[in-house]
Amino acid sequence: MNLLAFALTLLYWVDPHPEAPLAHAAMKQWEAASEGKLIVKAVDKEDDAELRFRWLNPQYRGLYGSSIAKMVKGKLVHDLVINGTMANEEKDPLLAATILFLTCVHESGHALGLQHTRDFADIMYSFEYGGDLQEYFARYRRQLQSREDFKKVSPVAKGDAAQLRAILDKRMRSETRSGGGAPNP
Ligand SMILES: [Zn+2]
Repeated sequence: MNLLAFALTLLYWVDPHPEAPLAHAAMKQWEAASEGKLIVKAVDKEDDAELRFRWLNPQYRGLYGSSIAKMVKGKLVHDLVINGTMANEEKDPLLAATILFLTCVHESGHALGLQHTRDFADIMYSFEYGGDLQEYFARYRRQLQSREDFKKVSPVAKGDAAQLRAILDKRMRSETRSGGGAPNP
């Protein structure tokens, strides 16, 4: 069976930035976690993308990132903003990169339709439920030897992967019915 025939393709764009490889690695990790249900493709023009990574002016403080859905020319797009302020304060460069990377994964998870969870193991965990924010980043950092490992060590927990696959299954069913073009829920 050709699994690719049943996969959804998501076009995304990353604003040029020294840390852009982290955004690409984040998208690849969601693709890997989808077990063939999702294909991600980077595009050169932001107008062609459903999901757009932007890097916030480092003057801004107080949040790691955000995902905002909006209609642009009749199309639903998700604008992700990644803020490097907190990462810049870290002395360990790999921990700083981890903060940016996991923020990319979490915010793109929202753009894919994932909701917050109460399970601290999940990348979609919400700190509204309390928990150790430092450990959320440190547990991933401990698995890294170099930046290459952002492509190798999955930040997506079992619960996140199950949530993603359920969303993709639902979207594929609705796109089959409507003939394609269904937006993210
Ligand atoms: Zn969130």
